[in-house]
Amino acid sequence: MKERYERDAICPLCGRHYTEHPALSRTDNKTYICPECGTRQALASIGVDEQEQEEIIATIYSHGADLDGQE
Ligand SMILES: [Zn+2]
Repeated sequence: MKERYERDAICPLCGRHYTEHPALSRTDNKTYICPECGTRQALASIGVDEQEQEEIIATIYSHGADLDGQE
């Protein structure tokens, strides 16, 4: 039996219900958050401001899993 990361979880940061592979919060290293918030924190840690974070997140997640070769 293959283990999958499908679980019901609520992100403590944005309150979103997610089933994707969770990200570990960079603020305390023990809280699991949704992948979007994980990306947000990663971007913030390298100095990307909030507005730009949202743009990047929208770009990443608006395409879902359909990432091959689409412009
Ligand atoms: Zn979140």
